[in-house]
Amino acid sequence: MDRLVIPIAAVGGGAHVQATIPFADVLPRDAEPLPLEHVTVEGHLTPAADDFLFSGKLYGEFVHPCDRCLKPMRHPFSVEVFWTFEEGPALTELERMMRDDENLGGIWTFQGVELDLRLPVYDECVLAAPTKFVCSETCAGLCPECGQPLNEHERPCPGAAQEEPIANNAFSGLAEMFPDLAPRKHEE
Ligand SMILES: [Zn+2]
Ligand SMILES: [Zn+2]
Repeated sequence: MDRLVIPIAAVGGGAHVQATIPFADVLPRDAEPLPLEHVTVEGHLTPAADDFLFSGKLYGEFVHPCDRCLKPMRHPFSVEVFWTFEEGPALTELERMMRDDENLGGIWTFQGVELDLRLPVYDECVLAAPTKFVCSETCAGLCPECGQPLNEHERPCPGAAQEEPIANNAFSGLAEMFPDLAPRKHEE
């Protein structure tokens, strides 16, 4: 099946799900967008008593500027998921957290004649999103002198080489008089 809203009648004894969809299609109204264009869902839906089980994986690629040097970077992700869909009204976030279970996986609900995988997919993408986008652990960010990524040129900055001695001399005199005002090394 190539979409994420699945008629229960089509599940039968089990159904394979394979869909690559625009992330906008799973984004709930008023929810924060993520820097993710598409997400792929692959897995198997199986009926179990009154419930339906979904086991499979999601994957995609976040694309975002590096938080330090602003260069566009890609952050691929892939997560295994295991969801139980039970019939009933939608659960609140708190109810779902209380009921998340090692054996049952995430608990979701369905009403009527369709299983809607969009909200669980959105939820997993939120969990998979990095809190910081950093192109490399050694990325030193942007040069304050020329605005280019620091990792891409020699230090001191060649672009500011002519002016620097003057600025340094003027400042070193001040720094001797007022050692407390000496610049701290930029940390990070
Ligand atoms: Zn960077
Ligand atoms: Zn520079």
